[in-house]
Amino acid sequence: MIQLYIPLNFLGVIYREIKQSLTDLEKMFTLMEREREIADVPGAQALSLPHGAKDASVQFEDVTFGYDPARTILHHISFEIPAGKTVAVVGPSGSGKSTLARLLFRFYDVQHGRIVIGGQDIKQVTQSSVRQALGIVPQDTVLFNDTVEYNIAYGRPGAGRAEVEAAARAAHIHGFISAAPKGYDTMVGERGLKLSGGEKQRVAIARTLLKNPPIMIFDEATSALDSANERAIQAELQNVAHNKTTLVIAHRLSTVVDAHEILVMDAGRIIERGNHAQLMATNGRYAAMWAMQQSTE
Ligand code: ATP
Repeated sequence: MIQLYIPLNFLGVIYREIKQSLTDLEKMFTLMEREREIADVPGAQALSLPHGAKDASVQFEDVTFGYDPARTILHHISFEIPAGKTVAVVGPSGSGKSTLARLLFRFYDVQHGRIVIGGQDIKQVTQSSVRQALGIVPQDTVLFNDTVEYNIAYGRPGAGRAEVEAAARAAHIHGFISAAPKGYDTMVGERGLKLSGGEKQRVAIARTLLKNPPIMIFDEATSALDSANERAIQAELQNVAHNKTTLVIAHRLSTVVDAHEILVMDAGRIIERGNHAQLMATNGRYAAMWAMQQSTE
């Protein structure tokens, strides 16, 4: 029994960590069927987005949520990401930015209000179809103890070498991989190829390019990459997000300037909203954050 318990317990720990870091969990959910907290409603249909990103508007309608019902984390959050547009969320640590993304993935159900994709309440459709429609480039990408090819192809199981390579080229990681002794067959991890934060993010971008989902979530890394690397990754992210419905959880304001709408959050509430020019004109919290960031840079 103990022999079984240890690996199961270990998987549980990994599961929780990954869930927290918002990684694509389709495979993990299959493995951990019994850990599911959220169930499909009987007879749930798949989310229907016949025209892909053109149909994939996202709405949060008066959403209130707490991980523990006694402690509300998000209070009456309403916003819309029109199909193909980008909405950015900024705010201090712990203000609830990543929680928005976790709810969009339906890792948890909202306590009040609803989340709607393409006109469909995500509680009423199958979770697998919701997750299929979403791609995420997380802060910390979880890599598997497997080959580089496997790690990229994970975005779309069954993808061939040529597709994996094309995605890696687009994510500007092909050169790095090719320079490794076994190229795409090189093992990743402790005893294999060690990747920096920026390289891991590029693997995540390549995965997402392969998956090609209509809705994208970027959870910007808090740990600063060097600025050349950071600018390059931002440019690649913009390529991936082109014409997709995108939610950006931003830690640097330079990422959000072009967003359709910017939500400024504090303690689980939206305290300011508008595009960059509007928020600068308001001369409130966003303008203060902008001034502070300019001065530190
Ligand atoms: P950061 O910028 O540091 O990533 P954030 O704005 O994304 O922060 P969230 O991760 O959404 O913040 O967290 C919002 C609040 O929810 C915090 O008070 C946090 O402690 C709490 N929280 C986050 N995850 C959980 C969890 N799994 N269980 C209980 N509370 C949680």
